Amino acid sequence: MPNEIKGLNEECGLFGIWGADNAAQLTYDGLHSLQHRGQEGAGIVSNENGQFHRQRGLGLLAEVFADPQKIATLPGTAAIGHVRYATAGNHGIKNIQPMFFDHPGEGQFALAHNGNLTNATQLRRDLTKKGVQFQATSDSELLGELIQTSSQTNFIDQLKASLNQLRGGFAYLLMTPQMMVAALDPNGFRPLVVGKLANGAMIVCSETCALDQVGATFVRDVEPGEIIIVTDKGMQIDHFTTDTHLSICSMEYIYFARPDSVIRGISVHEARKRMGAAIAKEAPVKADVVIGVPNSSLSAAIGYAQASGIHYDMGMIKNQYVARTFIEPTQAKRVRGVSMKLSVVKSVVAGKDIVLVDDSIVRGTTSSYIVRLLKRAGAKSVHVRIASPVLKFPCYYGIDIQTTKELIGANHSVPEICQLIGADSLAYLSVNGLVESIGALNDQPNHGLCTAYFDGQYPTPLYDYQAGFDADVARLGLYEGAN
Ligand code: AMP
Repeated sequence: MPNEIKGLNEECGLFGIWGADNAAQLTYDGLHSLQHRGQEGAGIVSNENGQFHRQRGLGLLAEVFADPQKIATLPGTAAIGHVRYATAGNHGIKNIQPMFFDHPGEGQFALAHNGNLTNATQLRRDLTKKGVQFQATSDSELLGELIQTSSQTNFIDQLKASLNQLRGGFAYLLMTPQMMVAALDPNGFRPLVVGKLANGAMIVCSETCALDQVGATFVRDVEPGEIIIVTDKGMQIDHFTTDTHLSICSMEYIYFARPDSVIRGISVHEARKRMGAAIAKEAPVKADVVIGVPNSSLSAAIGYAQASGIHYDMGMIKNQYVARTFIEPTQAKRVRGVSMKLSVVKSVVAGKDIVLVDDSIVRGTTSSYIVRLLKRAGAKSVHVRIASPVLKFPCYYGIDIQTTKELIGANHSVPEICQLIGADSLAYLSVNGLVESIGALNDQPNHGLCTAYFDGQYPTPLYDYQAGFDADVARLGLYEGAN
């Protein structure tokens, strides 16, 4: 759905296991620690000697599997699962993964996807011409349809040929009766890791926090362009392309991933602390106390406090029982959502000069609400420090910010945003500061990171999205106006 205003979106989470008696239960446990990557729907497919069983539904994992009997309907020693965060207009059970496909050689296969394809419109058009009838509306289905219509003769060759037709960001988990297969796009936009249980069961999942959850040890990151094939004989590493350019999504480090995860050897929590420390150096301010916006900004706030010497305190509380507010359809609902979610500890802020650290500003809803809340609680001044650069370009690789229209940073200068959110001062981390804080991933350009949201340097052509992007750039003068 390029060029339409869509709800801003999080990502999806993947977990798959091969070779464990309680595969579905372990998949549930792993997905539970990936719930932050998607709260709209969840599903698990188990593999019992080649026979597939599936449970899926809308809502949180615990809601979908509220009936404890449901896990018991998923027998077998292998399973793959998915947590999904969909956009407005794209809801519905049919889009909840894993999806099923028939296959002449394998009988059947299941598929789960994290990411966003940039050539989905074109692929959908080509497949429709071939007579393909789609099960659902999300682009996740396309890989399954490409495999089904491939002229190659075995599943792995069909998969490789199909993956080579995809553009954009994708991490996939597939399961046939005989194997579990993981694949990562040539830029490695999304994290994907391999782990192992003591009994030899192999796991592939989105983040290392899910490995910790099920007591597995980390084996390796899935590399861009790779496919990992797990069968009863063990794990085999193959690739569908060697034309790869690592550009892992910097938003994973800034906001999406859980702080206890490690992405390509870098602790997310430590990277966030370094981002906080870096903005403290770049934009120092005299204040009495540093507070963070719970929960995603707490690591950066600790980093800011440590680097500045200003003490850190728990100035805000998050009500743990409020789910997502971010993709509510109207501004009024979003404001109400934020107000239900966050509250101030008055004793910490009253009469104080405050540094308020947040990980990012998207529309500005959260920061303007919090600044007002802090002032109402008696704060003398509120200095907002954002531990990432100004977010002004859309993302087309799996973080569903595909329009500039709602991005406050695309439409206003930093002094204007400061005024709009009612802060006494506002500063963002520089792009260099961000890249250095995350740390050099390798010797590739931009240290193997995608920073397109901040600098418009997209690591791949945009295909379906190019025309809309060009129109946005022309309308907003984005590159010239870069601050
Ligand atoms: P906003 O209130 O629209 O400015 O959103 C900013 C807040 O949402 C920040 O505090 C972030 O923690 C969080 N955030 C940033 N990016 C996303 C995203 N793509 N999806 C959901 N929440 C986000």
